[in-house]
Amino acid sequence: MSFTGLVELECPGCSETEQHEIWSFVRGDLDETLRDRIKSGELNVMECPHCARIFYPDVSWVYADVAEDLLAFVFPASFEAEAERWRKKMEEDFERMRPVAERLGIHEKPVVFFGADGLEELLYRQDDLKDESDVAEWYAKELGLSMRAVRPAFAREHGLPRKLPLAAGKGFARQGALSGLRRLLDANDRLDGYRRWIKYLEGAGEDPPLA
Ligand SMILES: [Zn+2]
Repeated sequence: MSFTGLVELECPGCSETEQHEIWSFVRGDLDETLRDRIKSGELNVMECPHCARIFYPDVSWVYADVAEDLLAFVFPASFEAEAERWRKKMEEDFERMRPVAERLGIHEKPVVFFGADGLEELLYRQDDLKDESDVAEWYAKELGLSMRAVRPAFAREHGLPRKLPLAAGKGFARQGALSGLRRLLDANDRLDGYRRWIKYLEGAGEDPPLA
C-alpha cells in the first residue's frame, strides 16, 4: 500500500506556511496511477492555497516495486550538493526499513535519486524493456525457445530486458543463450535490447544471475 504524510511547507512565492499532503511511500507495482504521475513529473507537486503558485517542495520519499526488486529513495534535487551525507542517511534509514523491505520481497540495496527525474527515466526505461521482452516472448514461443528471467537488479544495472531465451530444461549456458538470441534477432531485428544482450554475453562479463 502507498501512503501519504502531512508536512508543513513554505510557499516559495508568497512565503505563507501551510500543511500539505505528500506521498511519502509509493508502491509502483500496485498503484499504476501513482507510477504514471511520477512518469509525467506530477507526483508531489504542490499548489499554494494562498497564491496558487505551483512548486516542487524539498521533500524526501520512497518508491518501491516488489516485482522489480526495487527500492528507491528520492531526495530533493537540492540535496545533491551534499550527496555523500544523504547517501549515508539513506543507508541508516534503510537498516531500519530492511525487515519491512524483506517482508515485502525486496532484497536489493536501495537506489538513490536527487530529484524525481532519474526515477522518471528509469520507469520509462523499464516500460520499454518490458514491451520488448513481451515481443521477444511471443517470438520465442514461435521459435520453440523458452524464456528465463534474470535477477531484476542485474537487468536494471545493465539496461537489458529481464527475460532471456534459453534452451529448454537447462540452466544458464552462455552458448545456448547466444544461439537463442541470434535466432530471436533473425526473426525480429528490431529488438535492440536483445542485441545488447548478445553484446554482453560475447564480452567477458559474469554470467547473468537467474531470478
Ligand atoms: Zn503562495
